[in-house]
Formats: sequence, C-alpha cells, structure tokens
Amino acid sequence: MVEISVTFEDGATERFPAGITARDALIAHARNGSGGRRQVERAVAARLDGPSATVVDLGRAIVGDCRVAPVPPDSPEGLDVIRHSAAHLMAHAVKRLFPETQITIGPVIENGFYYDFKRPHGFVADDLPRIEETMRQIAREDLPIRREEVLKAEAIRRFREMGEHYKVEIIEGIPDDTVSLYQQGEFVDLCRGPHVPSTGRIPAFRLTTLAGAYWRGDARNEQLQRIYGTAWASAKDLEAYLARLEEAKQRDHRRLGQALDLFSLHPIAPGSPFFHPRGAIVYNLLVEFVRGLYARYGYSEVITPLIYKTDLYKTSGHYDLFKDDMFLLTVEEEEYGVKPMNCPGHCHLFASRKHSYRDLPIRYADFSRLHRFEPSGTLAGLVRVRSMAQDDAHIYCTPEQLDGELEQFIAMTREVYAAFGFDRIEVTLQTRPANFLGRVELWDAAEDALRRALEQAGFTVTPLPGQGAFYGPKIGFDFRDVLERSWTLATVQIDCAMPERFALTYVTPEGSEATPVMLHRAVLGSLERFIAILLEHTAGRLPLWLAPVQVRVLPVSEKAAEYAMRVAEACRAAGLRAEPDLRNEKLGYKVREAQLERIPAIVVVGEREAAAGTVAPRGAPPGQETIPLEAFVAQTAAEARMPGGAA
Ligand SMILES: [Zn+2]
Ligand SMILES: [Zn+2]
Repeated sequence: MVEISVTFEDGATERFPAGITARDALIAHARNGSGGRRQVERAVAARLDGPSATVVDLGRAIVGDCRVAPVPPDSPEGLDVIRHSAAHLMAHAVKRLFPETQITIGPVIENGFYYDFKRPHGFVADDLPRIEETMRQIAREDLPIRREEVLKAEAIRRFREMGEHYKVEIIEGIPDDTVSLYQQGEFVDLCRGPHVPSTGRIPAFRLTTLAGAYWRGDARNEQLQRIYGTAWASAKDLEAYLARLEEAKQRDHRRLGQALDLFSLHPIAPGSPFFHPRGAIVYNLLVEFVRGLYARYGYSEVITPLIYKTDLYKTSGHYDLFKDDMFLLTVEEEEYGVKPMNCPGHCHLFASRKHSYRDLPIRYADFSRLHRFEPSGTLAGLVRVRSMAQDDAHIYCTPEQLDGELEQFIAMTREVYAAFGFDRIEVTLQTRPANFLGRVELWDAAEDALRRALEQAGFTVTPLPGQGAFYGPKIGFDFRDVLERSWTLATVQIDCAMPERFALTYVTPEGSEATPVMLHRAVLGSLERFIAILLEHTAGRLPLWLAPVQVRVLPVSEKAAEYAMRVAEACRAAGLRAEPDLRNEKLGYKVREAQLERIPAIVVVGEREAAAGTVAPRGAPPGQETIPLEAFVAQTAAEARMPGGAA
C-alpha cells in the first residue's frame, strides 16, 4: 500500500494510506489528541498545500505528500465555498419548483452569489420567498454533495438529455477532456467546486433581488433572469449584513437625488444626468472650490473642443486602445470622436506653441464635459455615467521638476480630503499593464518616481501590479466611506507614451530640445461620481458651504410672515442661500419637511422674535434658544465659508 505524509497546521506530520480524504486525515489527527476537533467539525472545506495551494472539498482524496488545514466557515475562502454552495442550492430549488427552467451560470460575488436562469414565462419578485422556502427544505434534507469527474462527451450527453442547452454550450467551450460535476439529490451542476459536504452546511442565506441579465453578458444575446442572494457563516453575520444593506438603501444617492431634488436620469439620454437647479448649485460650488485651489497651486484653466477628428486619437493611442469606449460620428465624410478624456487635446495645445524650460511647469486645468460609451446595462445613477466632467489637469514639466510636482499634488489632495473630512485613506500604486504604450525604461523610472513621492509623504502603499492605464503608472488615493466601501477619488499618473507620440518638446537651458514629463491628475475625479459618493457618505447632509439651501426661515403664524421674509433677506445679503417657508401649513410639518430636505439651518420666528429682532434656531444649545438676527447671520455666514480658498 502506498503511504503519504500529511502535515497539519500544528506542524505535526502523520503517515496515511494514499487516497485518504482530507476530512478523514483531519479527523484522524484531531482524534490523536492534537486537538482542533471542533475546528474540523466546523470546517466547510480543506486547504491543500501541495505543489500549489488550493481549497478542495473535505471529501477530496489526497494522493501525494502535502499540508492540510481545515477552512473555517468565516474565513474569506470559507465564505466563498458557502456562497457558491448557496448558488447551487438556489438552482436546485428553482429546478424543483419550476422544472422547465434552464440553468446557466452561478458565480460568487462580493457578499453573496447569483444565478442566471432562462425560464419561459419568467420569474416575478413573489417567487423569491417560495424559492427561499424550498432552499430551506433542501437544506433540512441535508443531502450529501458529491463530486464526479466525467468525460466531456458524457457530460454533454447528460446535460442535453436534461434539456440544459446553456450548460451544453459551456461544456463545449471547455478545452479539457474531462469536467467535474457536483450532484446533490436530483440536482446536478457543472462545477469546478469546491463545495460544502452537504446541503445542510450552509449556515445562513437570504435571496435579495431579481434582475435582468444577458447570456454571456452580451445585450445581443438572449435575455435571462438573475436572482441575487447573500450567504454568511452565521445568522448574526447575515443580520448585520442585511442591516448594512438597508442603511445603504436609505443612503442611495439615486433616492437622495430625487428626495432632495438634485438630479434625475431619463431614458432619453441614458447615463447622462440632468442636474436640477439645486443640484447645479452643488455642482458649480465644487468647481468653484477646485478653482480656488488652482489659483493657489498655480494651475491655468483652458477651454478645449469636445469633438475632434479621429486623427488626434490615432496620435494619442486612444483610437487603438479606447475606441470601443468612445462615441464616433461621421461628418462631411470624415470620422470624428467625442472626447473621452482631455489629454489628447491638451497635448495638441502644448504642441501648438514653442516652449522653453522657463515656461515649465505648465498646468492645464479643464472642466470640460467628457463622454464615454458605457453599455446601457452597466449604467448606475451618477456612479457609472456616459457624460461627466472631472477636475482634470495635465502637468508638463522637466524631469527635475517631477518630484516637486508630485509633492504639490499630494499636498493638494490632502487639503481636499481634509476639507470633506475624508480621513480613512488607502493609497495604491498601479503599475505597467499588459497592453502598455511607450518604452519600458520610461515606465520603470515613472514607477520609481511615484514610489519615492509616496514614501516621502509617509504613506503605506498597496501595490496593484498590472493595473496602470495603458499610457502610464498611477497612484490612487482610496477613500473608505461610512458603509465600509472603498472609492478611488484622487489619482495621478505619469504618462510614458503621449509626450513622445505628440512629439512634445521644450528648449533646455543648453539650447537643445527635450521631451517634457507629463502628468495626468484629478482630485475629486468625475464630479458626477464625487457627488454620488458624498451624498451616500453624508446621507445627504452636505457640509453647510455646499448645501443648496442653507437657511430656511419658518414663521410661527401669518403674523410673522413679513419678518420671516426680512430674516431671509438679511441672510441673502450676507451671501447665504436662504428662503422663507410661507405656506399655510402647521409649523411641525414645515420643520419635518425641512429636515427631510436636509436643510442645515432651520430658524423659527414668531411675533416675539419680530418685536425683539431675534431668531430661534432649531436645535440651538440651551440658553441660546433665541439670538439676535445680526449675530445669527454673521455666525452662519462665517461657518458657511468655502474651505480651501485664497487666504
Ligand atoms: Zn458550482
Ligand atoms: Zn489625462
């Protein structure tokens, strides 16, 4: 009999007959007094470290020397196994309830899973509770989950017999000779695994939403239906997640955009938001805020065309690598493209004049509207749009100026994040991707410069190899919001391709020509996306300086209406956005409405305040229930000052 050596987490090695299952090896070791019995019982899978590390079924046979460890349900790998097993459980329940349904794919996603189905008459939302109930039933049956390796032709035959034509198509596309199937009760699925040992081993799950999808994610293909679910290692974890989900729903910027009358989207212009008057105030204030910084940091704003002949994009490299994401049109028999980025236009502008080293650095800032073709299925509120503007700028400098420019950019980013109270920052360094443009030496030097700048600024950096843009490596300053989601806002990239492609030059002190270093940088990023993130992070409670309505004045009765108008007028004279609410409604109703609209300063005035020339701010500290009008105006105007402006 062939024996193998199995090493356990505690470092002990034991000999077993080859072919022993991972579970039996773990149990034998636990029984030998080395503890960890409970750990083995809880495990949802096993981790094998042989020639390579893999997570496998507990029932997988071990054939060679290796290390074995139990995978606990609440580890990242354990959760993946649970979620993928929950996807199978859901497909099983669907087939039991609606046998005419065809199954397609069911992957694990962040926090959960989904499965795409083709059903002749489609699902309705009311089907979800029924499916979930059947999932519970199958879980109670605690059916063993078995893996089987079969020849491809055999798998095709079996799925064809079952009428699962999508599965047949998937298997036909697999290059291997054999495939693995997973069976639980009457349900079988094509799958690489691993899975929990039986259907009763999925601790907590819930189906969440029903959505549309396309076969292979392509809108030209047949439409499918996708059911999303979530699964966790315990009921407690599931409840906590559902609470976070509910909180996210309350904070959803699309809901807040409607409730606060900031913006809307319409199928007449997919992915291109309409900013309403109040939303436009927020939008323009953000631009004004950035312009204030530009004045101090020495940027020059430019205004450049929206539509260019595609020759420009052929020079920049976008035509080859970004064309599918652009809106192209033909005018007078020539091909044009709507700009997806400002950089090609800025390079053209730079090249249109002769530059000396004395002119550098040149920092072109541009709030121009950009258009990118995003498939309609991927559009989401203000986060994923087709039309946007960025606080975009391109810096052209000498190699000697590069470190200083990066340092200044990091200082500006810190200032902006502080202004919004974004204090949980993670920094990433994204390096050369497979489809890069430009010379490798330039890339190496650029990556070094970025690394140096981050080190100097004292940041801990997460490297993201291969994730840079096609024209240069990139630093991302990721902000973690109150819902524990991470967003890349500020970015800076060194361009390793465009300066040479556009033959950009400047005259050096020695009188020769040299290629300038080019930086792409933005702090807020897309203004649309920034507004979405800020709304969700603050639950719509924008900082006072950004609030579209800063003060609302509520008269107690009609007798105080005239005074309410005077108070609002005094606020406006001090530069505040203030309005009286003169409707014939109860005071409590008006207060509630102002709160729902997230108006930061709500003041109440009655005849007493009118006579004394005072106001009563809501929520004022005790002893200051009423304050003189002038004091209120002066104090509020001071608090409402835009941060970061010229000193
Ligand atoms: Zn599977
Ligand atoms: Zn750029």
